[in-house]
Parts: sequence; C-alpha cells; structure tokens
Amino acid sequence: MRRRWRIVVLGARFAGLTVMHWVRRLARAQEVSGVIVDSWPFMTYRPALVYAMTAPPTFVRHWRIDVPAAARRAHFEFLEDRAVAVDPQRQVVHLARHRPIAYDVLFLATGADPGWHAIEGLDVARGGLCEDYLARATAQTLRGWTGGAIVFAVGPLYGRFQDGVPLATADEFMLYEACLLFEGTLPPPVRQKTDIWLVTPAPVIGEALGPKGRQRLADIMRARRIRVVTHAVYRRVDPGGLQLSTGYLPAKAMVWVPPYLGSSLARASRLDDGAGWVPVNRYLQHPEWPRIYAVGDVTTHLPKLAHSAMVQARVAAHHWWAEATGRALPPPYHPEVLCLIDIGRGQGFFALSSTLYGEGRDQVYVGPLAQWAKRCFNRAYVWGRGSLMVMP
Ligand SMILES: Cc1cc2nc3c(=O)[nH]c(=O)nc-3n(C[C@H](O)[C@H](O)[C@H](O)COP(=O)(O)OP(=O)(O)OC[C@H]3O[C@@H](n4cnc5c(N)ncnc54)[C@H](O)[C@@H]3O)c2cc1C
Repeated sequence: MRRRWRIVVLGARFAGLTVMHWVRRLARAQEVSGVIVDSWPFMTYRPALVYAMTAPPTFVRHWRIDVPAAARRAHFEFLEDRAVAVDPQRQVVHLARHRPIAYDVLFLATGADPGWHAIEGLDVARGGLCEDYLARATAQTLRGWTGGAIVFAVGPLYGRFQDGVPLATADEFMLYEACLLFEGTLPPPVRQKTDIWLVTPAPVIGEALGPKGRQRLADIMRARRIRVVTHAVYRRVDPGGLQLSTGYLPAKAMVWVPPYLGSSLARASRLDDGAGWVPVNRYLQHPEWPRIYAVGDVTTHLPKLAHSAMVQARVAAHHWWAEATGRALPPPYHPEVLCLIDIGRGQGFFALSSTLYGEGRDQVYVGPLAQWAKRCFNRAYVWGRGSLMVMP
C-alpha cells in the first residue's frame, strides 16, 4: 500500500482548479487527501468579463463557478480562507481563520496582486474589468453610451522574468478584446462621436506575439479606428483622464488593467525572487523547496495567461505523480503564447507563437471560427467547472 499524500492547493482559479482536476485524474481517492483553499467560494471566470462591454451589469452572474461543488466532485476539501504565509521548513500553511494546515506537497496558485496604488491617482473607481465587481461597474458606466473619449489602459509589469523574457505588460490581450468588442457594439452615429484609445507601456501592440500576430493586430486596430498609444509612461490618473509623460489624455470613461506587482503571499513566505514572483524550475518546482510547485500568474513565467496557467498546472501535477510513483518524468514545461480573443463583428483572433522564447512558431487566424471557438471554450470551462474533456 502506497502512502497517502496530503496535497494542498492554494488558489482556485485557472491554475489551482487545473491542478486539482489533474490530481484527481492521476491518483485514486485513497491515495490522496486534498485540500483547496481560496478567499472566495466561487471562481469568477475572468475571460468572460470582457463582455462588460456588450452586456448589462447582471451578466457576471452567469460566469461564476461554484468551487465547493467542483472540489466535492474531485474529492477535495474546500476551505474558504486566506493563506497568510507558507512555512516551507515545517511544510505548513498558515490561514487567516482556520488552523494551520500541513502538506506533503503544496501547489501555489494564488496569482498576482493588482497594483492599483502603483500609479498616482489610480484606484478601482477609475474603472476596470479584472474582477466581477469591476466588470459590473464598467457595464453600468457604459450603458447608454452616447459618445466621448474612452481609454483602455494597461499598467506596467514590475520584476525580472524567466530566461530574461522582455515584456512591458503581463497580459494585454483582454484589453484588445474589450476595446474591439466595445467598438463593435456602437451604432454608427455613436461611433462617429466616440474616440477609442488603447494605451500601453509596451513598445508595440501584441508584444508577446510574433511578427505576423503583431501585424494583424495593428491592421485590425487601424481598420476599426482605435487609436493606439505605445511606450506609455503614466504620471497620474484623475477622474477626467490620465497624465502621460507626453501629455494629458482626457477621458469620459476608463477601463484599466492595473499594474502587476507579484504576490504578497509569496513575499510574506519568502518564496519569491525578491520582486514578488515565485521562481520555478522546468517542472514548476521551487528551486529551494521541491515540495512546493508554483503555477500560473504567481510564477516568473511570462506572459500571464490562463492557457499558460493550465499547461503549467498539468506539467506540475504530472511531475509530482511521476516522482510519487517512480514513473518516467513527463516532458518539462515548454512555453508558448496562445491568444484567442473575441473581437466582435462576428470575428475572433487566434495566434499561437513561440518567437518570444527564441523559437519559430508564428501562426495567426482571424475569422468567425476563432470567435466560435472562444465562445465554446468559455461555456465548456464554466459548465465543466474547470474540468475539460481535453485539457490543454
Ligand atoms: C478580464 C480578463 C480576461 C482574461 N482573458 C484571458 C483569456 O481570454 N485567455 C487567457 O489565456 N488568459 C486570460 N486572462 C488572464 C487569466 O485570467 C490569468 O492568467 C489567470 O486567471 C491566471 O490564473 P491563476 O489561477 O494563476 O491566478 P488567478 O486567476 O489570479 O487566481 C488566483 C486565485 O488565488 C486566490 N488567492 C490569492 N491570494 C490568496 C490567498 N492569500 N489565500 C487564498 N486564496 C488566494 C484568489 O482569490 C484567486 O481565486 C484574462 C484576465 C483578465 C483579467
């Protein structure tokens, strides 16, 4: 009889739920005692929050996943709590409300903290879409839009990253999706009276993609008359607009993806690289603490995408299982950038690229099939509570 593994997963969104589902697929119930912890009892399915641009504020209700139900199905215990620190020496997680929990293996999947305070004057009241309350408020602001300037802005990314991958932002695909969906819903007379701005610290639109993807995105933005500001340096934000190093941009409404600052839990636990991100080896193990895997946005990998989080979770769970059972190790994590966004007007944009990592893949497709695929994925993920028939 093999030992019973005590698995603890911190964070129950893309990375954490995927780890949980893989652990359940790989091991039998009697081989694992699993606990998944999150501050929230439901997972907000973030990729659908961009529909704040086209739907009434109540739309967010349809994009919540019941985490306790997902955990029950995977034979995990769900704890609604906030992890305050990990003690890797004693293999214990300290929680805000429950007693500390011990682990044999820990999967850290707590994502990144939003850095609203990192830009003077920026706060949640300026507008956003990364959490359901922000998307709800944005949907409310945009209802009955009659014209004016709207700014879609992404904050910078702070830190140093795996293999020196050079990106100015953590992920801005959702902002392209949001501004294109918004543009696609405006009736022509209102469109005439609307200026749509996309503002980014990146040197180019689609910085994480290859040359083909960048070109297609730039063409789409031009064709849809979206004004792009690159190399943005933010000085200050106020209710009427934003002060850039190059001048003031007035805005009737703003939609922000805040700066990415790393993880306060990783910092408090001294598991980070000094900048809030958790360093990992090719199997997503912490270099100093092999009983700790980190997956998803919390790691030093770029860009920060749900697809990457799910692939990392698969690799980490398989690596743990191979080591636990003496099987051959799985292939290590091989990063690729997958962008699949709904750009409205019956179209979607798909790009798969590895040029960011010095490889040659650079595929792009724009058309109705990509929109259909994105919408199907959204539905399938929420319906399956994160467990897909074919996992990435
Ligand atoms: C609007 C929007 C649209 C997006 N669209 C796409 C898309 O179409 N495709 C794509 O690939 N990516 C997309 N992304 C990016 C994607 O959502 C993230 O990369 C992904 O959510 C990362 O997953 P994660 O599980 O690593 O972290 P997170 O999603 O950040 O989840 C972390 C979880 O940990 C919990 N947590 C954090 N700290 C603690 C703590 N101390 N104690 C307990 N729990 C804690 C949080 O409550 C949260 O549930 C989008 C992002 C946004 C904001």
